[in-house]
Amino acid sequence: MGEIHNKFDSERYYFTMYWNVDTYNNGIKYVFCDELDGYTFYPYIGKIKNLPEYNQDEVLFENANIYLPYKTQARLEKVPCIIVEEMKKIYLLEGHFNKYWKQISERIWKEIRKKTKNYEKTQMSVNEMVDLSLLKTPTRTAKVGTEFKIQYESKELDIEVQRLISKRASAMEDSQIRFIYSKKDNLVHDKKCTLISKINYEDFCASKELPSDREICNHCKRKIFIRNAIISDNKRFAWYFRFFENGKVKNQVLEKYLYHTNMRLHMNNIDQLIIKYKEDTWYIERNDEGRYLLYHNNYVMINDKERYITTGFHLQKNHPPYLVGIFAYIEGYDWQKHLQSKKKLEKSSHLVLEQEVIEESIEESARTVSQQEIIKEKSAEEEKETQAKKTTVIQKIWNKIVKIFKKYKS
Ligand SMILES: [Zn+2]
Repeated sequence: MGEIHNKFDSERYYFTMYWNVDTYNNGIKYVFCDELDGYTFYPYIGKIKNLPEYNQDEVLFENANIYLPYKTQARLEKVPCIIVEEMKKIYLLEGHFNKYWKQISERIWKEIRKKTKNYEKTQMSVNEMVDLSLLKTPTRTAKVGTEFKIQYESKELDIEVQRLISKRASAMEDSQIRFIYSKKDNLVHDKKCTLISKINYEDFCASKELPSDREICNHCKRKIFIRNAIISDNKRFAWYFRFFENGKVKNQVLEKYLYHTNMRLHMNNIDQLIIKYKEDTWYIERNDEGRYLLYHNNYVMINDKERYITTGFHLQKNHPPYLVGIFAYIEGYDWQKHLQSKKKLEKSSHLVLEQEVIEESIEESARTVSQQEIIKEKSAEEEKETQAKKTTVIQKIWNKIVKIFKKYKS
């Protein structure tokens, strides 16, 4: 646009010469029709943020006004629009398009004729710069009519097409449906992927589980990794997504710990992520200062090889302070290793162990002692028996949970 700026016969030159620019632009970007050759105009209905392309490139969308100076009347009109300069796109509300397209296209047409010396070009030919794809639906077509206004025509739909359309609509509303794919390619998308709008209704397929035989869409893989790990709570998907955004967790990390392991996620509130992995349950809490704390389920050691998980959580000592490190920590955690370390420590006091391992072992021992105090009236043998019974019952329940979990997973 710059090169045209200083042309004496340009609208911008006229405007800066004869108008008080400051009172007119209000800091919002403004353009003139004779600068818009090469742009494509997209009339749209509703809110700009509901357009699929807006979600993809939000930062590129810029509020602007098209200025229409009327030289003979010393009058200026502003037409609000959204410009995506990088892609040479202009989004105009349908109402604004109908009201102003005649004037806008006339000015563009005159500029094209002047520049190309092509005097055969008509004003109607400028309509080629209009893309009506945002207004078309399976049930109607749209065109720019002779009055430079948008005209619609309804399309006849056969029953089969109607059935496919409503099938797609109800799949998109169903909170159980999490993944979408097309019969035309080998990709799978997250339900919120903006590319889904490009799938034809006759090729549209929906799935509750992530199909294992499809390639993950590069555009929405972050959403897929997260959604696939959520236990059963898709309505709060935004919470999970935000949690990982805040933690600046990269896609490769999500792929490694969520997609390639069986870590499963749940959230009851916005700053607390519950993670189930193998036998253990953890939760990560984000405090007011944006720091992360890791909590681990309590457990009681029965002997060197057995433990059972009890209610409640304890703060895990010396865990990494950032999310990525916490995920690595959970993935690498093995309670039996902790026990072995403790045993070695007892046998050889000179053995140097990592501080965190020692501290946790001590913590676990302390909990075992307090558990034993509760049942101290019982004789040692009785206690052993009770503990053993508890273990069997808990083990049985646990096995069931694991079974259900595996079932769910498959
Ligand atoms: Zn996708």
